Amino acid sequence: MLEELIRSWDGEEVVVGFDAPTGTWMFVCLHSTKRGPAGGGTRMKTYPSPAAALEDAMRLSEAMTLKMAAADVPFGGGKAVLSVPSPPVGAERRRLLHRYGDLAASLGANFQTGPDVNTTTADMDVIAERHPFVFCRNEERGGSGDPGPYTARGVFHGIRATVSYLLGSPDLDGRVVLVQGVGDVGARLAEQLAKAGARVLVADIDPQRVEALAERIGAEVIPPDEVIGIECDVYAPCALGGTLNAETIPRLRCRIVAGSANNTLAESADAVRLQEAGILYAPDYVINAGGVLYAWGTEALRWDSETVETRLAGIGETLAAIYRRSETEGITTEAAAERLARARLD
Ligand code: NAD
Repeated sequence: MLEELIRSWDGEEVVVGFDAPTGTWMFVCLHSTKRGPAGGGTRMKTYPSPAAALEDAMRLSEAMTLKMAAADVPFGGGKAVLSVPSPPVGAERRRLLHRYGDLAASLGANFQTGPDVNTTTADMDVIAERHPFVFCRNEERGGSGDPGPYTARGVFHGIRATVSYLLGSPDLDGRVVLVQGVGDVGARLAEQLAKAGARVLVADIDPQRVEALAERIGAEVIPPDEVIGIECDVYAPCALGGTLNAETIPRLRCRIVAGSANNTLAESADAVRLQEAGILYAPDYVINAGGVLYAWGTEALRWDSETVETRLAGIGETLAAIYRRSETEGITTEAAAERLARARLD
């Protein structure tokens, strides 16, 4: 399976490691270095098999290539997956992260990483003890810290631009926005939306977290299993990927889908399903690029805060260009985003 996957992949390089004490498979995939060093997060997760983990790393690293190109920054796409039987803690986690750091360091500047699902800025501090090209270390260690607030700001700009394109004005006053998942990104997004006058609905599987936020910002709590059928202007998925599929799309009662979750669509046919349902979809890797713009921009490109803010606002402009292209070329917004990114790669 691993051999077949590697043979059929169109990326540049796969590095594989196995950590016997924890039973962890480590895959670092460099999809493209055409536009610059490959950038992408380090994900820690339990997978049903090493092949499933490798497949995920390959797919995610290709998405990073498109994300970096769509955001127009001089980096390629990569991703690392640590496929753990269960997430290690304490000294065992530290040892595994060092071992992984050595593996990543074997790629030198070609692989530049940061946090992802189940890895934190504290984990980046540990990996950076072995691999010099690590972003989002804690600020006291000289890193740029948590990228979540910047991802949230980018999504906020993206929602305004999408509302403006579809409804004629970016004004969110009175618009109904449903935020699914109020973690690092979703909570901050919900707060900004409420400040901008939107009627905010929030859902999370963590009842305490969602209730506390709702009370603080004046939002309405929706049970997590009722999200899909709720009537709203904007549905912002900020929890897990794959929420939109052949079964859920016909039940949506929103006009726009625009949120931070990676891989929101279960398959590419879902972009067509959304278009046919008259729902404007903000491609995930375009609207959620704020964290990458902040971390790679600040640490690798030495952007100042003004430049970061301009680039975050630029996410809205990129989305508007994608919507225009989708209309003039008669293609989905997902396809229009991919054409934009691939043209830059060529
Ligand atoms: P997080 O883990 O901090 O928050 C996720 C939240 O979703 C949690 O509160 C969790 O309880 C909730 N949740 C999980 N399953 C749910 C469900 N079925 N229904 C409702 N709520 C549910 O993660 P985050 O950093 O806020 O990221 C959110 C999403 O955005 C993820 O898909 C992530 O990959 C993506 N993303 C994040 C960043 C970033 O900078 N953090 C950047 C790009 C993309």
